[in-house]
Amino acid sequence: MSRTYLVIAEHRDGKLRQVALEALQAALLSSSEGDSFTAAILGGEGTAALAEELAGYPVSQIHLLEADGLNAYNPEAYAAALLPLLDAVRPDAVFLGHTAIGRDLAPTLAARLQAGQLSDVVAIERTGDEVSFTRPLYAGKAFEKRSFASFPWVVTVRPNNLPAAAPAENGRRADIVRTDVAAPASLRTVVKEVVRKTSGKVDLSEAKIIVSGGRGVKSADGFKPLEELASLLNGAVGASRGACDAGYCDYGMQIGQTGKVVTPEVYIACGISGAIQHLAGMSGSRVIIAINKDPEAPIFKVADYGIVGDLFEVVPLLTQEFRKA
Ligand code: FAD
Repeated sequence: MSRTYLVIAEHRDGKLRQVALEALQAALLSSSEGDSFTAAILGGEGTAALAEELAGYPVSQIHLLEADGLNAYNPEAYAAALLPLLDAVRPDAVFLGHTAIGRDLAPTLAARLQAGQLSDVVAIERTGDEVSFTRPLYAGKAFEKRSFASFPWVVTVRPNNLPAAAPAENGRRADIVRTDVAAPASLRTVVKEVVRKTSGKVDLSEAKIIVSGGRGVKSADGFKPLEELASLLNGAVGASRGACDAGYCDYGMQIGQTGKVVTPEVYIACGISGAIQHLAGMSGSRVIIAINKDPEAPIFKVADYGIVGDLFEVVPLLTQEFRKA
């Protein structure tokens, strides 16, 4: 029996988010021959170009749900746009990024479809007809593998864990179906303004390299050498809660159990002790480099490379050396 998979493709600043292509890859990995793939893009003006871009990927149809009210995420407006689409498409599975939007939206979609939901998936394996999904538990201390007992499914995938889907090989392009979405008659909440607090040009949850600072940076100015290194490496700057609580940086930069969960290729922890709540947000990083002047700091237990030293000497030295490379 062939199945229909629907991917909710997130975008930001006029670009498809990397996690949208990772969610598509998750759908591809879960599928069998003959299954079909559709995608939905929600937004206001400018989203048509994103649908054109996504049309070059292995999906047969893209639903472009357009309304000015969809420019910023509003759970009610998104639900009002998506639920009729679910009723029309009746997908067997929906895939989303495990992002702030995906986390919020997935249960609404699962409830409408009467679907089971698996969240924060980091790996997918298919053996015969069985698809198993791996997800972290206990703040990353353990992993479990689960399968759905029946369709439909709703799955959210953690950014930066699965490869992004590649463009379609045969040059076929998806059909784009444009739907003007009527604004719901009344919304209980409206987005008045979006205030962005970013640590740089690169989105923390999708960054390949993160330079992160802890209480050891000692002040807001102490982040400057970290920002310089991150910008040279085209990375993002993150922080421990210790640094946020001390007022050195914004909470939007916090990584950990109560902050963002990141899985970059390289995580450089500067002046961070390595409390369990911090590790919960970054221990999945491919390579961890720790800079700390205390050789007993717990961060060294999870680090692949450790530098015992003063971050204000080590970080500028690293920047200097990378600049030469
Ligand atoms: P510290 O533990 O004070 O460590 C500072 C480190 O800097 C030390 O190891 C010191 O040796 C080193 N250092 C100092 N000066 C220098 C220097 N010049 N050069 C090099 N090294 C230097 N924390 C998070 O990070 N994220 C979370 O999401 C989070 N959630 C939490 C949730 C709960 C419910 C609780 C109870 C706590 C949570 N915490 C979280 C807090 C966590 O327990 C730690 O308190 C916090 O991570 C400590 O931050 P830190 O490592 O920056 O500070």
